[in-house]
Amino acid sequence: MSTGAVDLLVVGAGAAGIAAAREALLLGLSVRVLEARGRVGGRAVTSHTLGAPMDLGATWLHAAQSNPLVPLAEAAGLELFDHDAVRSSRVWMGGRWADGAEMAAYERAEREWGIAVRLAEARAEGRALSMADAAPRGGFWDATLTHWEGPVIAATEAAEVDLEDYLSTLLNGSNLLPREGCGHVLERLAEGLPIVLGAPVERIDWGGARVRAEGAFGAVEALGAVVTVSTGVLAGGGIVFSPALPAEVEGAAHDLPLGLLEKVGLPASGADRLDSPAFGGIERRLEEGERAMTFVAWPFGRDHLEGFAGGALAWDLSREGEAAMTDFALSELRRIYGARADRAIQREGAVVSSWGRDPWARGSYSAARPGRAGARRLLSTSVGGGRLRLAGEACHVSLAGTLAGAWLSGAEAAREVAASRGLLRAGAQARGAGAGTSA
Ligand SMILES: Cc1cc2nc3c(=O)[nH]c(=O)nc-3n(C[C@H](O)[C@H](O)[C@H](O)COP(=O)(O)OP(=O)(O)OC[C@H]3O[C@@H](n4cnc5c(N)ncnc54)[C@H](O)[C@@H]3O)c2cc1C
Repeated sequence: MSTGAVDLLVVGAGAAGIAAAREALLLGLSVRVLEARGRVGGRAVTSHTLGAPMDLGATWLHAAQSNPLVPLAEAAGLELFDHDAVRSSRVWMGGRWADGAEMAAYERAEREWGIAVRLAEARAEGRALSMADAAPRGGFWDATLTHWEGPVIAATEAAEVDLEDYLSTLLNGSNLLPREGCGHVLERLAEGLPIVLGAPVERIDWGGARVRAEGAFGAVEALGAVVTVSTGVLAGGGIVFSPALPAEVEGAAHDLPLGLLEKVGLPASGADRLDSPAFGGIERRLEEGERAMTFVAWPFGRDHLEGFAGGALAWDLSREGEAAMTDFALSELRRIYGARADRAIQREGAVVSSWGRDPWARGSYSAARPGRAGARRLLSTSVGGGRLRLAGEACHVSLAGTLAGAWLSGAEAAREVAASRGLLRAGAQARGAGAGTSA
């Protein structure tokens, strides 16, 4: 590859990298994106193995009212489906499903759980608390709720999640499902961008007047760079920075470790839909310390169930391999449906994500370690006089862990590098300012 310099180098073609590249082009800059994998999308990828789209990573466009991807997907003609309008859930109590009164009690307990953790944070007066420190215990639904908010939502055990960070990144607004998948949305938004696939960056030299990225592909030089690799890749030394990143920036990557959420798609083997409607949620009431998977049945009326495993369970299953993930999912369904689960599901056709073992991700999304909520701002600090800026989901203070946060962070990073490197040309600043939301 030629070493001809571009204005902006972007490392990674996930949501943040795609947004950074689009923003740079809107600002009139020359740009090149180097992507390690043979595809775009990063932690958003849509599988078609089951004969219908299934996202193995990002699935919902959360916080739809403030999500920049919503207007962009709509402008690209992609259908977004309001999942909240059809959401339903059933909770297995062991031997039977929860009845109406129990479901109402569960909802009440959920509100009380939320109030309790907020009160704990308000009373902490600056003391670092984890989600587990603040979560109520001993109530009939408490273990189920803490499992939901920790391993399932934060993809991390409650004791390892900083409470302030958890509360600052709570999502509001509706949850939309792109019918063709979130991975497909990103593929469409990346069309036409100057992305080099199969180009893992091994080393970034940012000590001179230009930033230089090197790897087996050759070298690329630029006046500034936006690096969007995950905190798992950063903290694991996936790229060597020369000089080393400032201690506070590198420390921030370690303070924002990736949790793990893995998905499994289980195809139906016959007509049995396990008494569950399309989009029906299936979960179990849990005792403290119990591990479980949750399910969304037959999304869009398709012929597969989607299972979610998070936190320590996901890491353990990920180490054991794909078959272990499928076996665990089936054992969960067997607890509820008995041998009927084995007849209803076609085990051999299962599709399993592997974010934990993926060297270009090394997890699913970030959660701040207890006491380290400030790490997101530190991670986003420009270095080298604005030559280099990290970006991605972990850099967003309120939409961390989402496509929206990654997108906004990438666009902002591109603007920041362009401004500090004196790359904003006449008229370009005004054009670029809306890249987060314009088509
Ligand atoms: C199972 C799962 C479910 C999720 N559910 C949702 C959801 O429903 N809604 C939601 O909004 N978000 C969800 N997320 C989170 C969302 O996927 C991420 O927040 C988002 O995709 C992160 O984007 P990013 O650009 O920051 O990072 P990435 O997508 O990781 O992009 C970084 C890119 O850098 C590349 N890269 C890594 N190392 C190198 C290197 N050395 N050289 C060159 N390139 C490199 C990677 O291949 C990758 O393409 C989910 C994630 C997972 C895993």
